[in-house]
Amino acid sequence: MLTVKVDTHTHTLASVHAYSTLWENMQVAQEKGLTGLVVTDHAPGLGLGDTFPKTYFGNMRKAIPQTVEGFRIFKGVEANILDYDGNLDLPTTTLQKLDVVIASCHRQVVKPTTLEQQDQLWLKVAHNPYVDIIGHPGDEQFRFSFAKVLPEFKKYHKIVEINSSSFPYRQNARHNCREIALLCKKYQIPITVSSDAHFCTEIGNFQEALAMLTEIDFPQKLIMNRDVATLTAALPHCQK
Ligand SMILES: [Zn+2]
Ligand SMILES: [Zn+2]
Repeated sequence: MLTVKVDTHTHTLASVHAYSTLWENMQVAQEKGLTGLVVTDHAPGLGLGDTFPKTYFGNMRKAIPQTVEGFRIFKGVEANILDYDGNLDLPTTTLQKLDVVIASCHRQVVKPTTLEQQDQLWLKVAHNPYVDIIGHPGDEQFRFSFAKVLPEFKKYHKIVEINSSSFPYRQNARHNCREIALLCKKYQIPITVSSDAHFCTEIGNFQEALAMLTEIDFPQKLIMNRDVATLTAALPHCQK
């Protein structure tokens, strides 16, 4: 049976369109048997005029303990990819202070374009040493040539996210995530499985993703958030 002990993509009130505190998220995570979570609020570039400033992210390590009663809190961000050059909406000086940087495309920030340009965008992101996880790559709007780009993610030590909440609402996500997971299995590319929770009860909801991964006989050893120690070791900028 595939297991995931750390939810690597979660939002709090600081994302403004999410509705729980970090504390509430932690409580639910513990009730569900998780041993850690990564808090990844949206970086300021979401363009809604409503996300928290970079100070919020820069101060996390100082303000939030690494563990609370043995439960691990990883400090992270869901950074926005701003353009087809793969630039992100937080400066390197802030990204360096975080355990986990997810880079995602959101259409409020960058407009979907041709497959060719989207390949280029993701290749640029692959080359960014501060990015750890490729956020919701199954999103049809920002589709790329999976067979061409996924091996580059591996080469540059990126982890590919299988975002379980995408399955019901992002167009074609279920199909795309399966295709991505099959290639990750083939090329031995590491993945994370996440909830992308915007409310505490969603924390740890990976069932759809895990069912798909089980169906394709995905190897547990490629799931980097299977436990706290594996995730910590897989993240070059994570506080050890
Ligand atoms: Zn996102
Ligand atoms: Zn998110």
